[in-house]
Amino acid sequence: MVLHQLKTRGISSEKILSAFSQVHRHLFVPEAYAGYAYHDRPLPIGEGQTISQPYMVAEMTQLLDPVPGDRVLEIGTGSGYQTAILSFLGAVVYTIERNGLLLENAEKVFRRIGMKNISSMTGDGTIGWEEHAPYDGIIVTAGSPDVPPALLKQLAPGGRLVIPVGPRSSQSLKLYKRTGSGIISSEHGGCVFVPLVGKHGWPAEG
Ligand code: SAH
Repeated sequence: MVLHQLKTRGISSEKILSAFSQVHRHLFVPEAYAGYAYHDRPLPIGEGQTISQPYMVAEMTQLLDPVPGDRVLEIGTGSGYQTAILSFLGAVVYTIERNGLLLENAEKVFRRIGMKNISSMTGDGTIGWEEHAPYDGIIVTAGSPDVPPALLKQLAPGGRLVIPVGPRSSQSLKLYKRTGSGIISSEHGGCVFVPLVGKHGWPAEG
């Protein structure tokens, strides 16, 4: 997976490649899909949600570019795989998931593999997590119609926000950076994520 799906597609950071070798994706997928854990695709994790394709997790991580000690807010814990990759890279991770059952499952895996520096809560991540702001990085792992304003607000100077933005059916991966002269944004290709549902996301009922 690391060589064929990540390295050949442009994931060049050795520390990120090493994180993907050492955080085992099969621990984050339901038992029935364990045999597909290292395939080049998203997989169902229950509750109508998915664990993202490994390459997408790696690309978002590379855009976020966390260094040890960075405070990172993640919206959409899901399986917890992306959370664990960030924690492995030394980030102090705050993660929000709207589905309580998925969060419970993810927390069990964090405990099982002894992941440190992860704080989690059930709730609507489209309003951010004010209590621990500002963040050096914010990563949204669900598709948003637009950028939730609270997330830009909770970004520290020099902070990066990685978020899929666009219609429900397909989005474009965007990176926003808070610089001395304001927010600058860039686009990083197409992607398809489950919808970000909440106050500044999509309405719950389709
Ligand atoms: N990074 C995860 C992606 C899971 S899919 C993984 O690879 O496993 C996206 C997740 O975002 C889903 O679990 C969904 O329940 C959650 N989600 C959607 N809207 C949300 C919101 N407003 N706040 C928090 N979580 C949300």
